[in-house]
Amino acid sequence: MKPRNNLNRRAFLVGSTIAATGAIPAAACAKGAKGMSDFTYEVTHTDAEWREMLTKDEYKVMREGSTEFPFTTSYWNNNDPGTYHCKGCDLELYESDQYSPQEMGFVFFRHSNTNAVLTAIDVTDYHGMLPEPKEFLEVHCRRCGGHLGHLVQVKEEILHCINGTALGLRAA
Ligand SMILES: [Zn+2]
Repeated sequence: MKPRNNLNRRAFLVGSTIAATGAIPAAACAKGAKGMSDFTYEVTHTDAEWREMLTKDEYKVMREGSTEFPFTTSYWNNNDPGTYHCKGCDLELYESDQYSPQEMGFVFFRHSNTNAVLTAIDVTDYHGMLPEPKEFLEVHCRRCGGHLGHLVQVKEEILHCINGTALGLRAA
């Protein structure tokens, strides 16, 4: 079946190792949110400008809400001290001391920097892994709106599961 709307099917391609991870049903937290029709991000560009600024892979993840393949970047097991910036607008999103090592091929953080990310409802069937599309909580950059990843539950913890493609690490 053809997706009705790509933006509403923010694809979250998951490897078998992430199967134990429960994504948090967005409906529990975000239903009834007011419409965003008059909302404008602080950093905006035309589609042509985004395509110029970002690599093909960055564009797919950040502007189309796609998900990289697990283990795409080395950040998933990077313990170097520093600050992770948004590839779309350079906002400082995460600190390395909030990094949470997980063996799933994405970059996990316990939380973001203050006022760095927003969440939205994201409807996906995980590339057909679910019988029907379900709502999940997407994490995106507060300043440019770039898609970063999702909030997921790993064991007892709620973590930010982020595409390394959307991040740049600046050493401390
Ligand atoms: Zn940004």
